[in-house]
Amino acid sequence: MDNTRIDRHRLWASLMEMAKIGATPKGGVHRLALDDDDWTARDLLVQWCREAGCSVRVDKMGNIFARRPGRSVAAAPVMAGSHLDSQPTGGKFDGALGVMAALEVIRTLNDLRIDTEYPVELVCWTNEEGSRFSPAMLGSGVFAGVFPLVHGLGMTDQDGRTVGEELKRIGYAGREEVGGSDVDSYFEVHIEQGPILETEGIDVGVVTGAVGQRWYDVTLTGQEAHAGPTPMDMRRDALLGACEVIDAVYRSAVDNGPDARATVGHMRVYPNSRNVVPGRVTFSVDLRHPDDNELARMDSVLSEICLKVLRERKLELGLHQLFHFPPTEFDAECVGLVRDAAERSGYSVRDVVSGAGHDAIYMQRVAPSGMIFVPCEGGISHNEAENISLEVASAGCQTLFNAVLGRANRERRAA
Ligand SMILES: [Zn+2]
Repeated sequence: MDNTRIDRHRLWASLMEMAKIGATPKGGVHRLALDDDDWTARDLLVQWCREAGCSVRVDKMGNIFARRPGRSVAAAPVMAGSHLDSQPTGGKFDGALGVMAALEVIRTLNDLRIDTEYPVELVCWTNEEGSRFSPAMLGSGVFAGVFPLVHGLGMTDQDGRTVGEELKRIGYAGREEVGGSDVDSYFEVHIEQGPILETEGIDVGVVTGAVGQRWYDVTLTGQEAHAGPTPMDMRRDALLGACEVIDAVYRSAVDNGPDARATVGHMRVYPNSRNVVPGRVTFSVDLRHPDDNELARMDSVLSEICLKVLRERKLELGLHQLFHFPPTEFDAECVGLVRDAAERSGYSVRDVVSGAGHDAIYMQRVAPSGMIFVPCEGGISHNEAENISLEVASAGCQTLFNAVLGRANRERRAA
């Protein structure tokens, strides 16, 4: 057992202090990317990082970096962090836990006067949620070269304000170039946002990777007709066709093992009148699987059922794939380090695959990365009721501490 311990009460106090910024009556937070509350939260984070002796930098995407120097000046930093922005009715731990845990790691290294070989760097990413500005994970995406900087700065909210303008308004349009700098590795603690760890009574989820995703817009077009005089076999009912497609897609997920997901979360029916046979239906399909071949199999189920329905129901089809995001595998060494880190502190562990997007997924494209999941109550997230206990928060933070320290104090390989 490793008896090094983070200060869990200080971690909790920081989480609760941060949760006051943008607090909602139901116990959540409303802290949209680059709004006044995000501004206040950023200022508080920067103040805390400076008080912990870190040098703070901000890049042109508003990503915040706070570095605790290592013995080796030339070494790239071991990074840890997450995001402080929230959904409109978000919880107080999604994102904030990863940032506050990284801060607690630095504070603990200070308390214990531990020198690390590599610098340890906290990072707070801009616009992870994708709620005010789409897409999600914008700051880390630009950092990892997934989107160009001009694209990131040019994204607009519903009122037409751009990321670039809002960064200037709140004073977080930094001077530093985005990405391109050397990163030794990246670790992120996050609430699971699902029910598996809690259901199985596991303390820490060792995240081995993230599912691949395929998103589609489907339009089926038939013919509107009077609900009374039109016999069933003479209809071109677009909604009936949609039901068959949705049923097949859902079944393909159930048949594809416990890690497959299919969701139809959005649908429009035209003309949406109770006594008119629906002439047109548009709906979304979201397919997820950790194995790209299985995901491709689910994709062919979708296209085959669409073709069958259009033949048999005499419908017209529009099938548009919005994006294909391949599965991510986190770095084996970082994953192993996270597992050891949790076990060393006596936590029960289980390998998990992230079903959601996270900054760490983009970071894995530019640096060896790993993630730590902790259970959240009822698996509920993106909800003001989102909750974890002090013990759960500290299990995630202690695991992060062990992993970061292990990585930052490993022997430097000759370049
Ligand atoms: Zn998050």
